[in-house]
Amino acid sequence: MRNLALAELDWSFHYGSDVVHFAVRRQPQRRNSSISIHVEPEGAVVVDAPVDASRDAILAAVRRRGRWIQGHVAGFLRRRQNVLPREYVSGESFMYLGRRYRLKVIQVESAEVSVKLRGSHLEVRVTDPQRQSVCEATKRWIRERARDVFAERLKTIVAELNWRLPTPAMRLQAMQVQWGSCSPGGRLTLNPWLVKAPRDCIDYVVLHELCHLKEHNHSPRFYKLLDKHMPQWRNRKKRLDELAESILNT
Ligand SMILES: [Zn+2]
Repeated sequence: MRNLALAELDWSFHYGSDVVHFAVRRQPQRRNSSISIHVEPEGAVVVDAPVDASRDAILAAVRRRGRWIQGHVAGFLRRRQNVLPREYVSGESFMYLGRRYRLKVIQVESAEVSVKLRGSHLEVRVTDPQRQSVCEATKRWIRERARDVFAERLKTIVAELNWRLPTPAMRLQAMQVQWGSCSPGGRLTLNPWLVKAPRDCIDYVVLHELCHLKEHNHSPRFYKLLDKHMPQWRNRKKRLDELAESILNT
């Protein structure tokens, strides 16, 4: 969600015997030299700081909240350990647009290779039913579906906003810790795995990034804009946060 594309990614600090990595985003509009720290639901630590904040000031702010940060990151790692890696075998559950399907792997001749939703199944027809080829076929399908679904939602939401903006360019990029971002030039990047989430949650992410075209950081004005166009966005975000581990377990 946050614009990590522009973040400085190579920061870290020691907490006890742990090294905690974090990203720093410089925010030109940030006032009062305030530094704020977030731990994303997926475990990434992000620090918002004014452009002129010194390295020492940032490290001091992060160390002051070291226990809180480390606790959140450790909780994330514990939960993730409980999520088993996907096997890509028949019977495994697979989410698409918020609905659960069962994977059905079928071995076929090369002319019949396909991935399709059929009733309550996602049917993956491959020549080689090994994990890797089923995984690759599924990922290709996800990207295709993501491209179509996101383009349609983007167009619809832009039309509803009535901001007289052309529909911004959109690209897909699989990411570990974020759903989307918006570049200063106005290009949206969305995580293709988001297409597994319910449409309401996809719309929330798309609107969130579109609001960054007008408000580049998470200022009160940004949230006012989001509230205006989607008063129920907090529920949608909460739902998406709860699904994050399952969706990002690829
Ligand atoms: Zn944002």
